[in-house]
Amino acid sequence: HQLDKIEKEETTCGFCAVGCRFEMWGEDGDTLGVEPVDDPADAPANDFSTCVKGKFGHEFANSENRLTSPLIRNDDGELEEASWDEALDLVAERLTDIQDERGIDAVGCLASSKGSNEEAYLVQKFARQVLGTKNIDNCARLCHSSTVAALQQTVGFGAMTNRINEDVGEADAYLISGSNTTESHPVLATRIKQNVREGSDLVVFDPRKVDIAEHADHYVRTNPGYDVTWLNGLIRYTIEHDLHDEAFIERNTKNFEELKEKVQAFTPEKVEELAGVSPDDLAEAAETLAEADSVVFGWAMGMTQQSTGTENLLAMADLALVLGQLGKPGAGLSPFRGQNNVQGGGGDMGTLPGSLPGYQDPSDEDVAEKFEAEWGERPPEEPGLTVPEMLAEAHEGNLEGLYVVGENPALSEPDVEHAGEALADLEFLVVQDIFMTETAEHADVILPAATSPEKHGTFTNTERRIQRVRPTAEPPGEARQDWQITQALARRLGYGWNYDHPREIMDEISDLTPIYGGVSYERLEEGDEHGLQWPVPDEDHPGTPYLYDYEEGEFNFPDGKARFVPADGGHPGELPDEDYPLTLTSGRVLYHWHTGQITRRVEGLMSHVGESFVEINPSTADELGVADGEYVRVESRRGEIVVKAQVTDRVGDGTLFIPMHFAAGAVNKLTQETFDPQAGIPEYKISSVRLEPL
Ligand code: SF4
Repeated sequence: HQLDKIEKEETTCGFCAVGCRFEMWGEDGDTLGVEPVDDPADAPANDFSTCVKGKFGHEFANSENRLTSPLIRNDDGELEEASWDEALDLVAERLTDIQDERGIDAVGCLASSKGSNEEAYLVQKFARQVLGTKNIDNCARLCHSSTVAALQQTVGFGAMTNRINEDVGEADAYLISGSNTTESHPVLATRIKQNVREGSDLVVFDPRKVDIAEHADHYVRTNPGYDVTWLNGLIRYTIEHDLHDEAFIERNTKNFEELKEKVQAFTPEKVEELAGVSPDDLAEAAETLAEADSVVFGWAMGMTQQSTGTENLLAMADLALVLGQLGKPGAGLSPFRGQNNVQGGGGDMGTLPGSLPGYQDPSDEDVAEKFEAEWGERPPEEPGLTVPEMLAEAHEGNLEGLYVVGENPALSEPDVEHAGEALADLEFLVVQDIFMTETAEHADVILPAATSPEKHGTFTNTERRIQRVRPTAEPPGEARQDWQITQALARRLGYGWNYDHPREIMDEISDLTPIYGGVSYERLEEGDEHGLQWPVPDEDHPGTPYLYDYEEGEFNFPDGKARFVPADGGHPGELPDEDYPLTLTSGRVLYHWHTGQITRRVEGLMSHVGESFVEINPSTADELGVADGEYVRVESRRGEIVVKAQVTDRVGDGTLFIPMHFAAGAVNKLTQETFDPQAGIPEYKISSVRLEPL
């Protein structure tokens, strides 16, 4: 319907995975503003407020630079406007041609963690049912795939075990590592900082003294790349000093003896030598965590984006189990996930190679039969290619067609020069997005889409809470809802999809996906307006605040017991040397989001941080003759960029930090293509570089 008057709807923030609820206002098809919901009880994740992105960041939706018409690249290489029929026909024809000539798996799809659950579900269905390809992945590959791999092995579900307000907001102590919580998950950080002010203990291990570390009782600066070392050191100390929860371990876990043996090698001396953590710091941290009644273990991409990412999180889960800090109030493993819907669209909906919606295994006969009965096609059984593998195969000429929905690999992949070459090598690239992204610049066809203030749907936040999203604005020009575009493509390829509203897609999701089995729009709109935390096995189930139980275990394995999986350390893929003597790490700033496609278009956010920069320690700056505010060249084996220097002791001597949000001075021109062998996540957090004044 045409929104021709002021509209107000309660909806969910489209930026980070805290999933704050607020009321959004719209007028004449544009978004006007947001305000926190009247009753804090209506906002399970944000009973304080919204952050600056939530409050002002919606302006991007009204940008004059939105894509408003389908575009097709003509014979002269120029993009020109086309009708929806022309664009959709061309996509259907070219993908079919490629599959006829090069085989079913010569094409792939990248789904979005920014779109709704319903849209993500349809992209993986399009890949598996319509195209028949096993190549479906999304950008969660690049952020928390190592978290998922580790938690699935140790506790069963690859997800946060507890709740934001009631547990992360109320813990007796915290161990936070690799998370710039204040800038990446601001409302969640506010909860933690308030709790710390009231007496909780905060322990932060991080190479960079991020804002949350300023509030810590124990901040320990670590050497980048040695997280398994200090985590196993903490476990060793805990066991050696009899600080572990023996009854919990006995009752609810397996493989404790293997863990005990493994951590013996992680002596305080070894921890100090490799991780740079002194024996006193190690002991203090271990004692603090062991004395606490409840501990939240929080982390983000500083831990996950390493070649040892999965091992890091195995060690984190082992530590939580050793301390018995799961399945009780104020305790739990709490990955702070990035994008608004990365839990749902990036995993729960099956946008992963080898994992159907609800993390169901396509090689399980019962599962395969269930999907075949609903779809009329059996989903491919074998795992397909990950995002980096798709680009590598594109470079080799083995993958020729790619359908990219709401992702920007041209800026988000490591070594972006290489990624750009791979995208250019594709025979046919179709990009569905809201702006002309760096990836869309390589596209043969561009399909203009709607964004979160313009759509009905659901997002699932980092605490597994499924929440409603409602529109207060209209997509501009001829832009359409993503689910409508994917449906139109499926219909052109001979599949009679006929959804009238995302609620019907959710009905199909709940039919096929046990952890969403009791989710429906009716419930989310009536009695369960606060959302539902999965698993929600049936329509009478109230949702699951705690995934596990301190007394009973109830871990997601047939015997209900958690598994200790001893973690191996190792060295980063690239170490400083004579030519590239500095270590580069990357991350976020408060005012921007991911590749900046959205936030770089909001004046109010750009006025705070309008360009890229490099943080450099005063002593490194002194040695290299670099002054604060001057432009410097940073170079790695992959490329070089010019950015402004910020001299600060947030980073240690010999370590640099550059944010990930900017195309000019793109940090991923420098990052390396070393991957975690289990999760396939790139090692964005550690690259060797050199720096010189201009
Ligand atoms: Fe949005 Fe995250 Fe800020 Fe909440 S903390 S308002 S979800 S960006």
